[in-house]
Amino acid sequence: MENLNKCLVCGHTNFTKEITCTDFVATGHNFDLCRCDNCSFLFTNPRPDANHIGPYYQSDRYISHAGDKKGFSFIYRIYDVVRNYSIKQKIKHIKTYHDGGKFMDLGCGLGYFLDGVVKDGAFDAIGVDISEDAVNYVKKTFGYNVKLESELDSMQPKSFDVITQWHVLEHVHLINERMQQLKLLLKNTGTLFIAVPNSESWDAKFYGPFWDGYDVPRHLYHFNQASFALLMQKHGFKIVETRSMPFDAPYISMRSEVHKKNNFVFIRGAISGLISTIKAKKAMNHSSLLYVVKHAD
Ligand SMILES: [Zn+2]
Repeated sequence: MENLNKCLVCGHTNFTKEITCTDFVATGHNFDLCRCDNCSFLFTNPRPDANHIGPYYQSDRYISHAGDKKGFSFIYRIYDVVRNYSIKQKIKHIKTYHDGGKFMDLGCGLGYFLDGVVKDGAFDAIGVDISEDAVNYVKKTFGYNVKLESELDSMQPKSFDVITQWHVLEHVHLINERMQQLKLLLKNTGTLFIAVPNSESWDAKFYGPFWDGYDVPRHLYHFNQASFALLMQKHGFKIVETRSMPFDAPYISMRSEVHKKNNFVFIRGAISGLISTIKAKKAMNHSSLLYVVKHAD
């Protein structure tokens, strides 16, 4: 276990333990979340270090082979349709910023989004992932150009117009180092699209320790808008737009219902997702947020 002795965002050394959560998908182990007394950053602490986190990813949710599970299940079909629609919407939004150029999907997983970007045809896209299994899967399935995260350091500086990270940054141990890599790789006119769960959302408060967005210990950080903005500022970035991820509220709510061992998870989750979306409107406190980020200078 790795015990953080200072806040990774602001460097402050005083934290307050806020909530204990359970790993519902792999081990059943409990983990505490601490909040920085200075900047309100919420993080899993202590946390398994990078060399010991592997076993916590040994579940259907994270193993690359999960993508092979086609079947005829109705739920899988809905999931497929929603995913494909959501990929198209993401690309459409990105194209309001860039109509072409070099594109990296960092944390590409099984490559579904990368596949959407390549097929769209506007960008010269590559995928990058931490998992060798995932990289091999994408190469084998789609034949695309995918690299391991360890290769980021040897990439050409200032070469990417767009870098996307869909629910990835909350998993990265060396988060400051990662932000510096992004700072280096992104062109001066480039744009980052970073989606993370929002621990200030209605569904986070409603489900408490059962909230699927905590997903301990795989999620090392539990951002709110303030702590995310601070992290960006620290690394010379600015947020130019904040958007909701419309399908995340019902999805996260349904999974939270499963953690609570409730019945009727789809109906309950759909209702919670709807309430969360309605409540989020004013303060943009959606279940997950997509931040559009550019160089500050
Ligand atoms: Zn702090």
